[in-house]
Amino acid sequence: MSEQIITTEVVIIGAGPAGLFQVFELGLLGIKSHILDTLKAPGGQCTELYPDKPIYDIPALPICGAQELVDRLMEQIKPFGAGLHLGEEALELNKQPDGRFRLVSSAGTVFDTGAVVIAAGVGSFQPRRLGVEGAESFEGSQLHYSVKNAADFHGRKLVIFGGGDSALDWTLALAPKASSIALVHRRAEFRGAPASVAQMRELVAAGKVKLVEGLAHSLLHDDGRIKGVHIKTSSGALELLDAEQLLVFFGLAPKLGPIAEWGLDIDKKAIKVDTEKFQSNIPGIFAIGDINTYPGKKKLILSGFHEAALAAFAIQHHLYPAKKQFLQYTTTSPAMHKRLGVPD
Ligand SMILES: Cc1cc2nc3c(=O)[nH]c(=O)nc-3n(C[C@H](O)[C@H](O)[C@H](O)COP(=O)(O)OP(=O)(O)OC[C@H]3O[C@@H](n4cnc5c(N)ncnc54)[C@H](O)[C@@H]3O)c2cc1C
Repeated sequence: MSEQIITTEVVIIGAGPAGLFQVFELGLLGIKSHILDTLKAPGGQCTELYPDKPIYDIPALPICGAQELVDRLMEQIKPFGAGLHLGEEALELNKQPDGRFRLVSSAGTVFDTGAVVIAAGVGSFQPRRLGVEGAESFEGSQLHYSVKNAADFHGRKLVIFGGGDSALDWTLALAPKASSIALVHRRAEFRGAPASVAQMRELVAAGKVKLVEGLAHSLLHDDGRIKGVHIKTSSGALELLDAEQLLVFFGLAPKLGPIAEWGLDIDKKAIKVDTEKFQSNIPGIFAIGDINTYPGKKKLILSGFHEAALAAFAIQHHLYPAKKQFLQYTTTSPAMHKRLGVPD
């Protein structure tokens, strides 16, 4: 793990639409932020769950694709040069004696920050697990939920689970390199791109990939090593597949994760906030977007945007209590134009 300490005014946890817009609202007030997300791409649910779907309730954009919205937000926050830390989960958050916060990410990045905004949506997206007894102890050695180095799987007996694009893409990529490869999916239909499905079926017809319709039932292991996996096939019979490495692509599911351990007042997996500052029970920790709750809360992108605007003013006051606050319009404020890089 790399060791890096970043001192900043604000850290935003979650690069979904609410977190991205928080960068903008803070930037307008001249406040610098860093933003981190467990996922490798910004956009939260929009990018992860429905990138191609149109959204109809963004003000002044009658139709906007979900990924398009994220791309537009990324464009809008560019002038503020926020530090973007993708593929990093916020793991630890502690208040320091001087009132600042120490936040540590899964990549070992340490932030020393004056305030924290939690914009974690429905939580951190984690891979859906294989769900057979004893599987956890093989994670990272013989059981994988992502591929870090494809060469690790060359010359191996592989069993790949899943019916979406990841399972298909890796089946196609590794078929020429693996010693053997089986693809296990719970049903006959695949969710992946039709062209990939067709290519996979060609490999099956050519005897290069074994296709099994069924569910993982149990692992066959000996001496602490996986030797195979029993599949309960659609006919109800058990079939043993030889395996040295298992690759599982069941998609991602959100989990509140480490946030639940930070001493925050949480109600039904959401952080309780007030509706003036969107501050949690811990002064200096704010929560916006789908992750928060208050009377009348509606989990809409629009709500997250509004919350980001009010939270920005509250954060400014938290960081600089002596500073006089006043509302400026982006249309006419020279200070805001400067921050936005707009020539006056
Ligand atoms: C199919 C579908 C259609 C929808 N359509 C609409 C619509 O038409 N209009 C509308 O207004 N809303 C719609 N929504 C809801 C909308 O997508 C959410 O309200 C919005 O995404 C919430 O934004 P957010 O930034 O609060 O959270 P999210 O988009 O959930 O983003 C949160 C981010 O935080 C990250 N994160 C969580 N925990 C951590 C951690 N510990 N460390 C680092 N990162 C972390 C997550 O990985 C995630 O990327 C729809 C939702 C779905 C699923």
